[in-house]
Amino acid sequence: MPVADYATYCEMLDRARKGRFAYPAVNVTSLTTANGVLKGLAESKSDGIIQVSTGGAAFASGTAVKDMVLGAMSIAEHVHRVAARYPIYVALHTDHCQADKLDTFVNPLVDETERRRAAGQPNLFNSHMFDGSALPLNQNLDIAVKLLERFKKNDLILEIEAGVVGGEEDGVKASAAAKLYTTPEDTLDVARRLNTVKGARYLLAATFGNVHGVYKPGHVKLKPSILKDCQDAVVKQFGEAARFHLVFHGGSGSELGDIHDAIDYGVVKMNVDTDMQYAFTRAIADHFFRNYDGILKVDGEVGSKKAYDPRSYLALAEAALAQRVKKAVEELRATNTTMMAVGV
Ligand SMILES: [Zn+2]
Repeated sequence: MPVADYATYCEMLDRARKGRFAYPAVNVTSLTTANGVLKGLAESKSDGIIQVSTGGAAFASGTAVKDMVLGAMSIAEHVHRVAARYPIYVALHTDHCQADKLDTFVNPLVDETERRRAAGQPNLFNSHMFDGSALPLNQNLDIAVKLLERFKKNDLILEIEAGVVGGEEDGVKASAAAKLYTTPEDTLDVARRLNTVKGARYLLAATFGNVHGVYKPGHVKLKPSILKDCQDAVVKQFGEAARFHLVFHGGSGSELGDIHDAIDYGVVKMNVDTDMQYAFTRAIADHFFRNYDGILKVDGEVGSKKAYDPRSYLALAEAALAQRVKKAVEELRATNTTMMAVGV
């Protein structure tokens, strides 16, 4: 199927919350990783989300060019073209964008979507994250409201973050004093401010002790019940229509019980990057160790072209990534949920 349109994406998110499952949102940085995600989703018969970070986008444009807008556009264009060959829906999303990068990442990508819409073409991306979690909440929401007004006009969904996800991603580290647990009061402010933009859609990354990267067991104390407290507070104050669609950042390495609790409390999108990176690279490492003599020209030998042709190990890496995506889909209870299957 082609990339989901706005109505389809909204329906995907609503069905997930109602049906208590979530979509994996997998970071990609290349054609091969994007293809691996599509393969895994298709084999799982699950819809899903492909996302690009600022660093991943810069990488995708080439290390000599390092243009994150160009790289993000390039990956999105590729997915628009190839997704049509897979029997599932995929949405395209951009990951963390701090306030100081809005004008060099998200805004130019929205400009491109506006240009495409004026020409009768589909949106470039379906949704973008603005990460204002380093700002005081009122400043975070001031920016979010302005973005949401523009997004609404373009059928784009905004993801925001209240509270701070620990750990490190793309070289951005959360400070030790960061607020790792969102409070119900914070989320009431989110609803109070963002729900003034009538008819707009947003996703909320509320934090409940989650961290980017993978930590050894015992180092992270997740408290998914915080998400329930936030939902209860917002529904009590503003009614059922205000119930959040939540995003789980730093999902790699989480306990299954915590993942399921988070989904039960309204998580519809779980970001998984680190686990996917490992699965991809693990397959390449395996190939290299097994074919050491063929990959290297040892002692004046000529090596084996079959072993060092990048397609040989990138195909294995693509398959390994697809397998890991299937596992994520299973953990998120999304297997066999594609809207294609139910003919929606
Ligand atoms: Zn994140």
